[in-house]
Amino acid sequence: MSWSQPQQAEDSHDQMPTLVGSAIQLLCGEAGVFVVSNDAFDPQSSSEYTLYKLDKAALPLLLSYTQEGMQPNSLHPLIVETLDPTIALQMGLSKDMVARHGVECGSLALHDDYGLLGMLHFLRSATRRSCFERHNESGNDGLVEDEDVVDLESGESSVRAEDGEESGGDGESGESGESALQLFVAQLAASLRFALRSQALVKEQGRLAAIFRNSSDGILTVDQALRIIDFNPAMERLTGWRESEVLDQFYIKVLRPKDRQGNDLGLQDSPILLAFAGHEAVNREMVICARDGQRFEVVVSASCVRSVRGEPINGILNVHDLTRERQQEEQRSTFISVISHELQTPIAIIKGYASTLARPDARFDNRTLRSRLVAIEEETDRLNKLVGNLLYASRIQAHGLQMDIVSLDLERLVRSVVRRVQARSADVTISLYCSEPLPTVMADRERIEEVLQNLLDNAIKYSPGPGKPDINIICNSTGEEVIVSVRDAGMGISVREQAQIFNRFERVGDPLAQTTPGAGLGLYICKAIVEAHGGRMWVESALRQGSTFYFSLPREEKAQLPMVVF
Ligand code: ADP
Repeated sequence: MSWSQPQQAEDSHDQMPTLVGSAIQLLCGEAGVFVVSNDAFDPQSSSEYTLYKLDKAALPLLLSYTQEGMQPNSLHPLIVETLDPTIALQMGLSKDMVARHGVECGSLALHDDYGLLGMLHFLRSATRRSCFERHNESGNDGLVEDEDVVDLESGESSVRAEDGEESGGDGESGESGESALQLFVAQLAASLRFALRSQALVKEQGRLAAIFRNSSDGILTVDQALRIIDFNPAMERLTGWRESEVLDQFYIKVLRPKDRQGNDLGLQDSPILLAFAGHEAVNREMVICARDGQRFEVVVSASCVRSVRGEPINGILNVHDLTRERQQEEQRSTFISVISHELQTPIAIIKGYASTLARPDARFDNRTLRSRLVAIEEETDRLNKLVGNLLYASRIQAHGLQMDIVSLDLERLVRSVVRRVQARSADVTISLYCSEPLPTVMADRERIEEVLQNLLDNAIKYSPGPGKPDINIICNSTGEEVIVSVRDAGMGISVREQAQIFNRFERVGDPLAQTTPGAGLGLYICKAIVEAHGGRMWVESALRQGSTFYFSLPREEKAQLPMVVF
């Protein structure tokens, strides 16, 4: 049996209704309920019950009614009382039955060696008596006449004989009725307790199967020979093996565990064998191998299921993938190094220039003074940009960035940004080509300006070398969108790294060894802004030949409005 398949409820799950129905019939009841609980007398706290031919809606009424009357106990387990006809009708009993014979309500307390198991409440016609009561009443001058009697052995009804033939008609018959009732209670309680236990086991099995199937950690179980007997869906995702392919396989052959240095971990290091040997909570980090040969770090914990005699039967291996945690750790430490590096550089420059300027003995001509102050201003701008980008990135993550969407003439905006950058950087050539008058887009002017500004800054920044950076901006449109591209002839980006540069804090190569300032946030922010407009952003690049960054925005009539927040 594998836990990966949903389990069918066992037959024992259905034993309760049959047992309860038979017991109520033996007591000549037409309908009723068995309520399981230590608090069986408290209708509010009783949650487990099994109905027999009784509407669920009638249950609160029946329980509160039985609670008010006399309570049965282990000495007098059965109490039967006449039921008020109005209440009987409210409980859904037929008018005919209520009007013709009247109705009785009985409660049977089911005690066994473990205590009170629950209460069996039943409703019946006032003319009927079970064999247990019939014995008693015969002993009590035979007050009841012409009733149906149910035989305890056969469970079948028979018309009660008036001459007391069945009861024996003497005083001893009361005692025999009582002992028959005690026997009935004991047997019924034992059967119900067994059925309840089976029910609980089926529920427990369902709960464990759900945990097994839905766990985000991989779980595999093995037999004593370390052959796989269960392989959960998380394990399938982790390793690429299907459960059907690995069942009965030696688990070490499937996972091919190694230590971090790449040495094979053989049987002697098997955490399951340690668990079999009695070690508790065996946790171990290791590298395992997926079906396609990919290796990844995991932490495994092994435990053992034992027989009643304490022998190991099954081993359970819980496998937690550490890849994501490792990536996050790496990202966190890169973030800290990059940010401290990016903060320290401008601060050091500002501090250096400011200290020189502040020296009481220093004399500067106007040109020198000016150049130092310009340097301080530039470094302050750099700091300002870095802090701004950090805030931007954290807002994007928190999905809290507000946008002010308007109908925008993109060509005009591109021209104004180009003019501004060109005025600032005289040693750069920027050319702009627009294939035709561009259609308007729905966009946040400021944010799209930032995107373009960032792409132009990068194109300049990553075009080192003796010549003047040569940048081309091309705008065109399709039926759906307007596309802007920024092309440089700079250092280019390898194909492998092209997918990563849009991630946060991602800088090509060694982030700290780079000579160009930056924290790896610009492209991440640009992409988030463009995508929030319903557009796309991508790159085409070849190492040492240059890069072209593209972004698109939906044409005004195609834009999905309103787009205010992302
Ligand atoms: P920053 O420039 O602040 O490091 P970005 O997110 O703007 O951050 O860029 C991420 C990385 O992508 C850069 O560190 C750089 O390695 C690479 N990159 C971006 N634009 C270009 C470009 N035009 N040419 C070559 N590499 C680039």
